[in-house]
Amino acid sequence: MTTAADGDRGGNIFDDAIKRLDRAFEFAEIDAEAVERLKHPRAIVQVSVPVRMDDGSLRIFEGYRVRHDDSRGPGKGGVRFHPDVNLHEVKALAFWMTCKCAVVGIPYGGAKGGVVVNPKELSRLELERLSRGFIRQIGEFIGPESDIPAPDVYTNAMIMGWMMDEYSKMQGQRTPAVITGKPIPLGGSLGREDATGRGAYYCIKELERQKGWDPGRIRVAVQGFGNAGQHVARLLHEDNYRIVAVSDSKGGIFKQDGFDVPSLIRFKNESRQLKAVYCDGSVCEMVDADTISNEELLALDVDVLVPAALENVFTGENARKVRAPVIVEVANGPTTSDGDAVLNEAKKLVVPDILANAGGVTVSYFEWVQNKQGYYWTEPEVQERLREIMTRAFNAVYDLAERRSIDMRTAAYAYALTRIGEAIEAVGTQSFFQAGH
Ligand code: NAD
Repeated sequence: MTTAADGDRGGNIFDDAIKRLDRAFEFAEIDAEAVERLKHPRAIVQVSVPVRMDDGSLRIFEGYRVRHDDSRGPGKGGVRFHPDVNLHEVKALAFWMTCKCAVVGIPYGGAKGGVVVNPKELSRLELERLSRGFIRQIGEFIGPESDIPAPDVYTNAMIMGWMMDEYSKMQGQRTPAVITGKPIPLGGSLGREDATGRGAYYCIKELERQKGWDPGRIRVAVQGFGNAGQHVARLLHEDNYRIVAVSDSKGGIFKQDGFDVPSLIRFKNESRQLKAVYCDGSVCEMVDADTISNEELLALDVDVLVPAALENVFTGENARKVRAPVIVEVANGPTTSDGDAVLNEAKKLVVPDILANAGGVTVSYFEWVQNKQGYYWTEPEVQERLREIMTRAFNAVYDLAERRSIDMRTAAYAYALTRIGEAIEAVGTQSFFQAGH
């Protein structure tokens, strides 16, 4: 294990992400010194993970774990397996976790991890060796009271189970609270699977109340049809919203009257594509829809646009093309700071990622609590507690935005900063020490 002080400088997604702090500072109750602290991650670990491949060869994978801040509690954040993972991205994702946990008021700081790999190219055994190998390398850096990983893009419950098992072997005792998003029999929480989509859905339900929407008239487009995107689409569909477009990494589909989302989910998960021939026994069918590109999906004339794929989707260049008046950011970091300026100028209502996708980490927190107390809640209990937290956070941010006439992103950061500031200031800042007490 090597510890990288800070290997990266210059323009990057982390630098872009922390620009939000300066704008929000004006509306937050926080000492300037505390804001400065948040511009520098607490610790970064860079590892290489040797994996014996099925053909006998050895491959080395690069991995990272970043703890951005732990003022409010242990670092919390997922592990991403993706070929484009890099340190800038992991730092940005860790920073967003710090802000997200503060927005929903759960007692965590922010962290994130990633491995540079295309998991689709690995066999299941290779994937297990990589997952266990990564945990062996970062094992000294994580723990139930210091830093708690979870799933992110291209990692899932089974991978979390392998990771928990490996960590438990290192400790010589079963330690389920070290990681969340685990399979239910290994200490996972009921309701974790759809928590991110459900949290975003609760935000949309509050918007519906604020705006007096009739769901049957609201057209929604969802970019990214994985865990988060599928569940938000399913829950909205159950409430009669019209899901008119969805996309994945291979492209998108559009249907004016809206899709039957449960069939689409079944189709996507069985055929692994959105538009393909689906064969059930002797019956083969095809999703009845027009094919559209991801760019076309982002520019559709819909009421609500839900980016639920990856970062940097709305930039200074393409944000102008967005026609939807409301954007609900289920993905982390889908809007660059330049993209933000364009969307704000166009008076778009953006429910920011650090609020809209906070349902996942909230139920991860519930999982950690259940692991520590050894007593497990029912699914309706989980959903009710999630609804309460998301609704409270949404309304606090929405009210602040209205009161100060600012966009919801700035309001969410200001709200988060005030909470983080309270924790940092509780152990003293310059103003306290200069007062000579
Ligand atoms: P996932 O791997 O289950 O799904 C990602 C989806 O995005 C896939 O359908 C993939 O095909 C699609 N995609 C990839 N590139 C694309 C592109 N260029 N255009 C359109 N679609 C593309 O991942 P997920 O867990 O659903 O995460 C999606 C986003 O939500 C990420 O930004 C993640 O950080 C964020 N998020 C997820 C959770 C969670 O609990 N799953 C929690 C908080 C935030």
